Amino acid sequence: MKQLIVFPTSQLVRQYKRDMLKNEKGVTGELPVTYEFFVDRCIDEIAAPFTFIGDFKKNLLLQHIFSRLIKQLRYFKSASPGYCFKIGEIIGELKREDMSPAEFRDLVKNTPKNQDIYTIYSAYQKLLKKNRLIDREDRHILCKNYIDKSRFVASYDSICFKEFYNFSTIQKKIIRNLGHKAEICDTKMGFNVNKITVVHALDRKTEAWNLAHTILDDLNNGLLPEEICIVLRNRELYLPYIYEAFKEAGIPVETQLTAPLIQNPFIKSLFAMSKGELGIYFDKQINVDDNLFECYGYWASVMLEYLEMMGFPQKFIQIHEGNVFLIKRDVEAFECLKELLQDFKEVEALAGKGHIDFDGFLKRFAGFVKNGNYSGYPPEKGIWLLSFTMLRGLKFKKAYVLGMIEGEFPRAYRPDWLLREEERALINDNGYDIDVIKTLFEREKESFYYLLSGCGEAYFSYPEVQESGSPTLISSYLEDLIHSDVDCEKYRVSFSEVFCIDIGKSFKSLQGVLCDEKTKDKIERYFNWYRFSITALNTYGQCPYKFFLARVLNLTPDIDETEFTALDRGIVSHKILEEFFKNHKQSLLAQDIEVYEREIDQIAESVMAEMTNEDAFLHPKIYEIEKQSIVQQIKTYIGNHIKSQGDFVPYLLEYDFGFDEDFFIIFGNKKVKLCGKIDRIDINPEGKIAVFDYKNSYNPGIEEVCDGTNFQMPIYIIAAQKLLQRPVVGGAFIPLKKGSVDNIIVRDRELPFVSKRKRKGILDEKQWHELLNLAIQKIASYVENIQDANFPIQPKKCPKIDKYSGFCDFTKVCPWEGE
Ligand code: SF4
Repeated sequence: MKQLIVFPTSQLVRQYKRDMLKNEKGVTGELPVTYEFFVDRCIDEIAAPFTFIGDFKKNLLLQHIFSRLIKQLRYFKSASPGYCFKIGEIIGELKREDMSPAEFRDLVKNTPKNQDIYTIYSAYQKLLKKNRLIDREDRHILCKNYIDKSRFVASYDSICFKEFYNFSTIQKKIIRNLGHKAEICDTKMGFNVNKITVVHALDRKTEAWNLAHTILDDLNNGLLPEEICIVLRNRELYLPYIYEAFKEAGIPVETQLTAPLIQNPFIKSLFAMSKGELGIYFDKQINVDDNLFECYGYWASVMLEYLEMMGFPQKFIQIHEGNVFLIKRDVEAFECLKELLQDFKEVEALAGKGHIDFDGFLKRFAGFVKNGNYSGYPPEKGIWLLSFTMLRGLKFKKAYVLGMIEGEFPRAYRPDWLLREEERALINDNGYDIDVIKTLFEREKESFYYLLSGCGEAYFSYPEVQESGSPTLISSYLEDLIHSDVDCEKYRVSFSEVFCIDIGKSFKSLQGVLCDEKTKDKIERYFNWYRFSITALNTYGQCPYKFFLARVLNLTPDIDETEFTALDRGIVSHKILEEFFKNHKQSLLAQDIEVYEREIDQIAESVMAEMTNEDAFLHPKIYEIEKQSIVQQIKTYIGNHIKSQGDFVPYLLEYDFGFDEDFFIIFGNKKVKLCGKIDRIDINPEGKIAVFDYKNSYNPGIEEVCDGTNFQMPIYIIAAQKLLQRPVVGGAFIPLKKGSVDNIIVRDRELPFVSKRKRKGILDEKQWHELLNLAIQKIASYVENIQDANFPIQPKKCPKIDKYSGFCDFTKVCPWEGE
C-alpha cells in the first residue's frame, strides 16, 4: 500500500527523517512532506494559468482598491496602510474559512464596518479573478475544489495527516474531499517533563546571555544540538540579543533570522536623503519636481533609476570596505527594496493608476516598508529556534524557553476591533470556525502542552522588566508548573553575571569627522541658528557620534506608540506632581499627609486615565501595578518634601524658557540659543529661589557637569537667574524612585533640603561661579565643534563600553567596538 505522510511543519518532516536514519531503518518508500508542499502538488496541474501573489502585493492591491472605493465606504474615511493590513488580515481569515464575500455579508449585521469589509473583499476577489491571480488562501481553496481529481493524490492509496492536532475549516474540507484515502494520526500527548529550571533575569538581554552560558554547559555535558531547541514567542525582541550572545559563545543557531527592513541603515538613509540629509550611502539628492503629480509606477521607476545612478548595489563594497557581513546585509535589503518598487509598478498595471506627488508616494511607500522584513542575518545550521505552535509533535531532550511573562505567553488577547466578538460568534453559529477569544486561549494552552509533552526537561526564563521599564508578571502557565510535582530549580541572574565580550577590536578615530566642504557648509548653516536643547548638548558630550546619528542624520529608534514606555511614565509622574503643587502653593502641613495622599490618588487616577491607554499594557494587572508604583513614589516624595521644605514654597511649575522668546548664552562674539523646561522653582520669603528637576531613572551628579556630559542643572540655574532676575541659591534633582532630593548643586549649605551629612555639591561662591563658567565654556566648545561638523566616535558614555554608563539607540548601527 502506497501511503503519503503529511506533516504540518518542515521541522516535523526533518525530525522524522532524522529519526529514521538514526534508528538505522533508513528512509525507505515515500518521503514525508509538509502540508504546504502537499497543497502545491495537488494543484500544480490547475494552478498553471494563475499567478501567485504574496502578502506584500496583496496589501498593495488592497490599498489601491481601498483608495478607489473610499468615497463609497461608510466606516473608513482614509486608506491608511494600517487599515489596509487589517482588512487584509480579515479577508485572509474569511478565506481560510472558505467564506465568500456574499456569504459574509449575509451572515453578519448590516453595520457600516461590515459593509465596508464586504465591499473591499468583493472588489478584491473580482480583481483577482479578472487578472487570474491567486493569493495564499486561494491555493487552499483550489486544493479543496480539485483534490478529488488530482493525479498526485491518485497515485497514493492513502494520505496520512500526522501530528496536526487541529485543522482549520479549509483543511477539514480538503480532508473530507479526500474521502476514504484520508487518515489522521496524532501522537497522544502526555506530561513528559520531569525537571524544570526557572530563571528570573534582569531583562531580555540578560535572558539571552544566560541562555548562551547554559546551552554551552549542556553541550559540554553531552547534549547534542539536535536534541535541544529554543522556544520564543516574541522573536523580534529576542533575536538580536540571541544572535549577539550566541555569536560570542560560538553556538550556531538555526533560524531564518529576519529583521525589519525599515531598520536597515541603507533604507533609513534613503528616507533621510529624501528629507535632504546626505551621508555615506547617498551623497546626491534625488532630482524630482515637487509639484509633479504622477502615478505610483512612475515614482517607483524614478526611485529605481536613482538607485542605479547612485551605483547600488556595487557601491556597498566601497562603503563597507570589504566587510562581507555588512555588504551582504545591505545587498539583501537592497534586493528587497527593489522587489517592493517593482511590485508597485506591477500592481498599478493591474489595479489602475492613482496620482500622487513624490512626497505622498514616499509616505505610502514607507508605510509598506515598515511592514517588510529582510534577511538581516546570515542563515546558519544549528540549534533550532521555534515558536510554541511549531513544537507540535516534536520531541527533544531539553527545551529552552525565553520570555515567560503574562501577556506574552499566554498572550493577552483582546477582542478584534474590526470584526467584533459577537460577529465572530454569529459566523461560528453558522458552521464556521473563525477565531474567538476563547479558542485563542485554548490554543495557547494547547501549545504549552506540546512543550510539556515533547520534552524531558525544560528551562524557562523571564525578564524582570520590559523595554519600557515596566515591571512584568511571571507567566501563569509557568507559575502553575512551578507549583506542580515536577522537580524545579530556580535562580535569579543579573546582566553583569552573564555578560562577557571581546572588546579588543579597533575602530577608526576619524569616523564621524566630516570633510566634504559642501556638507560642512550645510551643517554650519543649519546649526548656526539651531535652538539647542539640554538633551542635545548632553548627547554631544556623551558621544559626538551619537549626536551625529540622532541630530544630523535624524535616525530615530522604532517606537511602538501603543506601548507604555519609560518616557510615558516620566510624563505621567510630572503631570501628577504639577497638578498637586498647583493646588498647594503654600507650605505643606505634616498633619494633613493623609489628605494629600488621597488627593494624589485622585489626581493619579484622572491623569492615568487621560494620558495612558490601558490597552498599552500587556495585562490589566500590570496597568494597576504601574499606577500604584507611580503613586507610591510620589507619596513617598511628598512625605519627604514636608520634612525638607523649610520656608520655601512652590513658585513656578513646568517653567519653560527659550521657546516663545529666544534665550541665549553668549561667548566671545557668538550667541548660543538654548531652551529647556524646569520642573519646579521654589522661593523663600527673602526672594531666593531654588530649582528642582524630577528624575524617573538616571540622576546626574556634579561630576557629570565637570566632564561635560550633563548640563541640565547649570543651565537651569543660569536661565532662572537671568530670566527671573532673582538670586538662585541652588538646584537639585529629585529621583522619584528614591523619593527625596539628591545630587545637589548649592551655594548655601543651610538650605532646608541639604542634608547635614552632605558634602558633595555644596560649593562656595568661587566654586559656584567656576562651575557655571565651566559649563558655559564646554557648551561653547561643543557648539563650535558641531558647527564645524566634528562628530568623532569618542564616547564618554556608551553602553558598548559599560552597560550601565549610558543608553544609546544606535548600538546596532554604530561601528564602534570599544578601544
Ligand atoms: S554605540 Fe556608543 S559609540 Fe556608538 S553612537 Fe552610541 S554611544 Fe556612541
